[in-house]
Amino acid sequence: MIQLIRGFKDILPEEIAVWQHIEKTARSLFADFGFKEIRLPILEHSELFKRSIGEDTDIVEKEMYTFSDGKRGMITLRPEATASVVRSYIQHKMYAKDPVQKLYTIGPMFRRERPQKGRYRQFYQIDAEVFGVNSPFIDAQIIFMLVTFFNRLSITDLETHINSLGCPECRPRFQKRLLGLITSVKSELCIDCEKRSTKNPLRVLDCKVPTCKKAMEDAPSILDFLCKDCDNHFEKVKALLDKRQVSFVVDKQLVRGLDYYTRTAFEIQTSLLGAQNAVAGGGRYDGLVKTLGGPAQPAIGFAIGFDRLVEIAGINKEDFISKPDIFIAALGEKCIDTAFEWVCTLNIKGVKCEMDFSGKSLKSLMKKADKLNAKHVLIVGEDELETRTVTLRNMSTKKQVSIETDSLVESIQEVLK
Ligand SMILES: [Zn+2]
Ligand SMILES: [Zn+2]
Repeated sequence: MIQLIRGFKDILPEEIAVWQHIEKTARSLFADFGFKEIRLPILEHSELFKRSIGEDTDIVEKEMYTFSDGKRGMITLRPEATASVVRSYIQHKMYAKDPVQKLYTIGPMFRRERPQKGRYRQFYQIDAEVFGVNSPFIDAQIIFMLVTFFNRLSITDLETHINSLGCPECRPRFQKRLLGLITSVKSELCIDCEKRSTKNPLRVLDCKVPTCKKAMEDAPSILDFLCKDCDNHFEKVKALLDKRQVSFVVDKQLVRGLDYYTRTAFEIQTSLLGAQNAVAGGGRYDGLVKTLGGPAQPAIGFAIGFDRLVEIAGINKEDFISKPDIFIAALGEKCIDTAFEWVCTLNIKGVKCEMDFSGKSLKSLMKKADKLNAKHVLIVGEDELETRTVTLRNMSTKKQVSIETDSLVESIQEVLK
């Protein structure tokens, strides 16, 4: 038997209701905030991710699924969505129509991570990006939107972490100081950190290896190095969040792993998955549109880990499993013929109605109705057809009503009201 690839998973029908509910919640909320959906290919030129995410990141170095596309060069299964959204914003010159664009996309991402519990090589993200807005109001607004989204899914055990990563003017001063510390504790750092520290010392702050975390405990805070503009921006974001009563923690360790972030960075963390874990993260990336060949337009966005969300959302699966309103138990060929007409008519009238075509006994049909969790069963035998009256049985109250077949559809709609 051929099994699925290790690190991948099927989302089965009994789980899908939760996925759909989360998606519906996101679509509805994001639309209220003025976001429009964009759907993008899962394959892009490898160069796109190398240039956006950064060559010396874990993602680009060892986690991308990259293939040769013959003469057309190397292509990659997208490891995240931001780069593709930016590529599309530039390619379709969306900025010419209006530099301000609010976009969201939902779909699978791919990373060749070591398979482990709760980590998949194809995982899903809900991703939102805003282009063309410099103002700290948008930073606060999308954090507010994100927190509202989690609230709507009844996820309460949350902590919003925020930090500022400065800008090309002020960050180098911090990096220089950080590099001083890194050099002094170099022997305690992991191989990756040792390798990366000179190119991007910020990454060392982001490393999850305990010895690195410990070594960087006394690292200076980037907030002490912000230039006036970055400082004002961050202060305003914090004030706006306070005003909206979004509680947050200023977290100097929060640097996000990717090259393109500037100024506001944020993460939503929860302990619902065991150790403190991020379920969403994002930030400002004011330089990326230009880096990828577009005009100098600021941008900010976030990604939510959909798979983790499914695990922690306060959703009772049972509430979302679709149950038939009516199951028609038709006994014998003639009854099946008639019932088939009824099922089709009820289905197009919006009634969830199913039947079985096998001609089994009433006993086994009732068993099937039970299994499907049908709310009502309509029993149709030859005698019932003769008298033009069928019996509708409410499966929870066990009450039965007689229905005339001449006005069957109307009567059923009446009962279901
Ligand atoms: Zn700055
Ligand atoms: Zn490390």
